[in-house]
Amino acid sequence: MPVVSVLLPLPLPEAFDYVVPGGLMLGLGDVVEVPLGHHSRIGIVWALKPDQDGSNLKPVKSRLDSPPFGEALRQFIDFAARYLVTPPGQVLAMVLRQPEALGPGPFERLAVTTGFIPENINAARARVLSLAQIPLPRALLAKEAQVGSAIVTALIKQGALKEIERPVDLPFEPLDPTRAGRPLSDSQADAAHVIGRAVQQGGFKPFLLDGVTGSGKTEVYVEAVAQALLARPDDQILILLPEIALTQTFVARFEDRFGTPPVQWHSDVGSPAKRRAWREVAAGRARLVIGARSALFLPFAKLSLIIVDEEHDGSYKQDEGLRYHARDMAVARAKFEEATIVLGSATPSLETSINADAGRYQRLVLPSRYGVALLPQIDLIDLKSHPPKKDHWLSPVLVNAMAETLAQGEQVLLFLNRRGYAPVVLCRTCGHRMKSPETESWLVEHRYSNRLVCHLTGFSMRKPDSCPTCGTPGGLVSVGPGVERIAAEAENLFPQARVAIFSSDTTHTPQAVRDLVAQMEVGEIDIVIGTQIVAKGHNFPNLTLVGVVDADLGLKGGDPRAGERTYQMLSQVAGRAGRANRPGRAMIQTYYPDNEAIQALYLGDRDAFLAAEVMGRAAVGAPPFGRMAALHLMAQSESAVDAAAETAAQALFPVDGVVVWGPAPPPLSMIRGRHRRRFLIQSTKEVDLSAFMAAWRRQFRVPASVRVQVDIDPYSFL
Ligand code: ADP
Repeated sequence: MPVVSVLLPLPLPEAFDYVVPGGLMLGLGDVVEVPLGHHSRIGIVWALKPDQDGSNLKPVKSRLDSPPFGEALRQFIDFAARYLVTPPGQVLAMVLRQPEALGPGPFERLAVTTGFIPENINAARARVLSLAQIPLPRALLAKEAQVGSAIVTALIKQGALKEIERPVDLPFEPLDPTRAGRPLSDSQADAAHVIGRAVQQGGFKPFLLDGVTGSGKTEVYVEAVAQALLARPDDQILILLPEIALTQTFVARFEDRFGTPPVQWHSDVGSPAKRRAWREVAAGRARLVIGARSALFLPFAKLSLIIVDEEHDGSYKQDEGLRYHARDMAVARAKFEEATIVLGSATPSLETSINADAGRYQRLVLPSRYGVALLPQIDLIDLKSHPPKKDHWLSPVLVNAMAETLAQGEQVLLFLNRRGYAPVVLCRTCGHRMKSPETESWLVEHRYSNRLVCHLTGFSMRKPDSCPTCGTPGGLVSVGPGVERIAAEAENLFPQARVAIFSSDTTHTPQAVRDLVAQMEVGEIDIVIGTQIVAKGHNFPNLTLVGVVDADLGLKGGDPRAGERTYQMLSQVAGRAGRANRPGRAMIQTYYPDNEAIQALYLGDRDAFLAAEVMGRAAVGAPPFGRMAALHLMAQSESAVDAAAETAAQALFPVDGVVVWGPAPPPLSMIRGRHRRRFLIQSTKEVDLSAFMAAWRRQFRVPASVRVQVDIDPYSFL
């Protein structure tokens, strides 16, 4: 009897073999149910082994009525597993996150008229029969007709209504790409056309859409998608966004253009909607999906275009569970799908810029803002010469500019990438700092909720009235600013102004984000104070002044991308100013006006900054000129984690071009009571670092109490 290998969505080292019972025909990629221990599991046929003896193997139970996984998807899963140094079943688990979507879905029973009309029918019954000309669930039918459910039952008995079964998950409304679009600028039209033609021709083709903030990249995506929908009527398109807060306005643009909304996939989409989306994507019928990074693992039947908006954004890197960078994995997926991929940004990552400079990606440029809008003027405020008053954070220079802007009836955005009121709370008498329990992280004071919160673990407590160490009553003081403290300062300075905070604490639902964006748009807010979530994508036509409270915040720490990230963040924030017909300006408070990232911003010279970054990173072989990885070990017991780290160190073997640092405790040396140790690994570009990490990982064993995680291309160094 033939044998198949079945990949299960579990962290097992490989696919398991099963015998195929007589009468069952199986092909590669088929979705099957197999026994595993005492349970049965759903898996995917990964290999066919017609000539193997299966006499001692368990049989496949059944084949599910679900579209098989195509070759491109299977190759992508194998590639991702190998690259990320993780079992392929772990990647498959990302794809099979909606197991309810497999096989025949839930059905609903609907009542519909049969055409037979009984005699002596009263008004209530007539209402039911008139409504039931289109099939409706019985309860809904009774409700709409304002009758009791007994009447519906009676009509069924009489034969005037019949019950039918229909799947709950219906196909989505088709998109209409022939509707009229907006008129495009020449550079927008050119870019959309080039992308559309690439999709039509087929094959792997990567682009960088390099357009300044406000240049109208969204409109290019819309037109490119329209052309792709027309050119390849059976294929699918995926658009990735870094932040779900951005999806609503973005989705609305596509709905306007195509008459019906695209399919959405992110953490705010409920389970039934996800089940329907998954099913329709697998069937190849959902043609346009807009989602967060995990949408990359949807089982598309045939992808011909992927768009990664704000490709430089750090939130594309997932740092928990499967550690992957969605942009990089999207490029890999596009290769296997032989698809076009567009990476869009005003501040491309160094990795992507270098690929474009080398001609591996085709660069499409949108050189100026759409319409009459101009890029904002940038001023630096040297905090050494223009310091704020004691216990204040806004320099008089910025305060004057705010006063001018408000007097003209325009809006101000103050940016500080720190949630809460104060990042540290300490005792004035004994110096005790309020720390998160079992975690190496300070508690952040939140005044609105009157709590001290750990941003890492979510732990929170009421702020104590006296110091927990020395007992001094009222001894605890707040040190440094967060957005709430800046808001308090702004309210003090401008008592008439309407001040709002835009951070993940104040606007944690998409509805709250929509409300705040709407309030900004209609001018119900004068000063908005925000963390990085305001930096991205929003368009506020009357916002003309952006003040960056602390430009130096991102420059600290041992992260090779610190300068790049600071530059990207600040230019995105500055890019919020003056997006319509009023000129904007951005004022940047810094103690280091000579820093390269800050100078580049001031001079508007992005390419000079990138050139300096290239030199700096090339000199030390940092990514993308070399490769990096991290190996993390975590355990409740400090001695266990140290022993495991020692075992891992002993198992290292020398390889040309590979340098290993550690083990050492990272800056956050304990989280939720788990002690952490870390190795950092750097190699030259020629080394297959994933293969090295996998080989090293196979060389040592640790007790079950110690968790080991490999992170290829780490982005977080905490
Ligand atoms: P980006 O993402 O490049 O920063 P957006 O796509 O947000 O820029 O566009 C900036 C602004 O310009 C938006 O208000 C958008 O509606 C407007 N805009 C861009 N292109 C067009 C166009 N072709 N027609 C009308 N408005 C446009």
